[in-house]
Parts: sequence; structure tokens; C-alpha cells
Amino acid sequence: MLWLGGEDDSQLRRTAATLKRCKVRYEDFDRAALEAKYPQVSFEDIKAGILEPHSGVLMARRAVAMLVEDALRLGVEYCSAQILKPAGSGRLEQVVTSQGERFSTEQFVFACGAWLGKVFPEVLGERIFPTRQEVFFFGIPGGDTGLQHPALPTWLFQEDLFYGNA
Ligand SMILES: Cc1cc2nc3c(=O)[nH]c(=O)nc-3n(C[C@H](O)[C@H](O)[C@H](O)COP(=O)(O)OP(=O)(O)OC[C@H]3O[C@@H](n4cnc5c(N)ncnc54)[C@H](O)[C@@H]3O)c2cc1C
Repeated sequence: MLWLGGEDDSQLRRTAATLKRCKVRYEDFDRAALEAKYPQVSFEDIKAGILEPHSGVLMARRAVAMLVEDALRLGVEYCSAQILKPAGSGRLEQVVTSQGERFSTEQFVFACGAWLGKVFPEVLGERIFPTRQEVFFFGIPGGDTGLQHPALPTWLFQEDLFYGNA
């Protein structure tokens, strides 16, 4: 994980202080050192960087798929369906899917993320404000491994909070 700081690198300094306090291994780089270590990257707007050699990213989709596999192995019954907005207020005893299936149980857990406001508009409609996060995919010349791990770690530019990995 490579944290990068621009002209105002105060956030980077605070990150370094936290890593130090928590005894997380990291290496400090000024711009010249970054350019020497990663010549394939243009560090025009970058003043300094911190490399955490033991940190990285979790690929969320793969992680969730593995969790489902584990749960199935342990005997959990899994099905994929859209739950319709539960009718009425009061205690919920049954949910209905868009396919018309009905599920009854004593307790339900709704982990619907940004959609929770739509599922429970009366309770959460005014409280959840999803924001749009853009994801971009860039093609690189075939066979060019310079922007991939291990030549380049996952990087994050702290000022505007954009980040990327290959
Ligand atoms: C582009 C992007 C990048 C991000 N990067 C990071 C990151 O680097 N680090 C980090 O910690 N977080 C990151 N996040 C935030 C992170 O993804 C969320 O905080 C996290 O996924 C929330 O988990 P959740 O289980 O609450 O909801 P979600 O992961 O959104 O899951 C909600 C699920 O509910 C389902 N659902 C919705 N309505 C219904 C319904 N009526 N019936 C049945 N199912 C329904 C949806 O299909 C979805 O599968 C990022 C988010 C985005 C969009």
C-alpha cells in the first residue's frame, strides 16, 4: 500500500504518526526516492509517500463469494432474491420477495447498504444519503506489467482520496 501526499502532506504525516504509534512497519519516501523506485509513474504533483509493505487491498466481491462458499459448507441455506418493502409498521414477521416467495422467522437482519432507505422509507428514507463513487478501468499495453503488483503496489492519493490497483 503506497500512500501519496501532494503539496499539503499533513494528512500523510498524521498517517505516519499513527502507523508508528501502532507499530506498523512503513517506509518513508520523498519525491526523488519515489521516482527512483517507481520510474514507470509520473509523480508530478506528489511531494512524499509512505509504503506499507505488509498492507494491501481486499477484493470485496471475491471475499463475499468465499464467505458464501464457507457458509454453504457449514450448512447455511442461501438464496438470492429481492425483498419487497415490508408492509405496515410494528414487528416484522414475514418478508415477501419480488418472486412472491414468503419467509417467516422471529428475527430478520437487513444488510441492504445504501438501499436501506428504499426498503424502510418511513424509518430511514430521510437518514441515508448515498453518494456516487466513480470507478474507472484503464487499459494498458498488452504484456506491460509495470503497473501491476509486485512492480507497483496499490496506491492512494490522500488529498483527493483517489486510489487504484491493478
Ligand atoms: C466504488 C466504491 C469503492 C469503495 N471502496 C471502499 C474501500 O476501499 N474500503 C472500504 O472500507 N469501503 C469501501 N467502499 C464502501 C463499501 O463498499 C461499503 O461500505 C460496504 O460495501 C457496505 O457494506 P454493506 O454490506 O452494508 O452493503 P453493500 O455491500 O452495499 O450490500 C448491500 C446488498 O444489499 C442488496 N440489496 C439491496 N436492496 C435489496 C433488497 N430489497 N432485497 C435484497 N437485497 C437487497 C444489494 O444488492 C447488495 O448486495 C467503497 C464503495 C464504493 C461504491
